[in-house]
Amino acid sequence: MCFYDLLTYEIIPLKTPYVIRNCSKCKRDTEFYCSEKFRVNANQKMVDVWIIYNCIHCEGTWNYPILSRVHVSKINPNLYQKFMNNHNETAWYYAFQIHHLRKLCKDVDTNVCYDLRMERFESKFNDLTIRINCNYDLDLRIDKVLAEILGVSRSNLKKLEIDGRLKLNPNISMKKRIIDHLQVTVVGKG
Ligand SMILES: [Zn+2]
Repeated sequence: MCFYDLLTYEIIPLKTPYVIRNCSKCKRDTEFYCSEKFRVNANQKMVDVWIIYNCIHCEGTWNYPILSRVHVSKINPNLYQKFMNNHNETAWYYAFQIHHLRKLCKDVDTNVCYDLRMERFESKFNDLTIRINCNYDLDLRIDKVLAEILGVSRSNLKKLEIDGRLKLNPNISMKKRIIDHLQVTVVGKG
């Protein structure tokens, strides 16, 4: 019996995206990085929470609003503790709300470095199957990542698609952004 490859790739960002804002000290639009530190203000049981961003040039600050005037009883105690402890994953969760951050800032620099962590399994599928997992929205196009995984140019990737040798599940355009649990079948490879 012939076994084919099932490859799983996890996309792991190495840092959070910069946001682009006007810095009052630099007097121009600059990049701000996420400090991964929360600022929590409690005033008469009403709570405000921000994440502190700093200008990469002058360390000037911008406070990214997370909660605004929320009664302490309405905040999940576990989450509140994570704010107080500067819980890293929680900060990353908010730092990758790219769509929301774009509304608050001039732009978000989504050119984030990432690692692709691969695991290989045997499968009984007849073709090479690739599963891509991505916990964060990195604003990455599917064709960019697939070209990197398969080691082909984007034009060769396009040719594979036209020849019907690439099947995406769910069946979405390769120009779309990567979604978690995307499965790609490469027909006639492996
Ligand atoms: Zn600055």
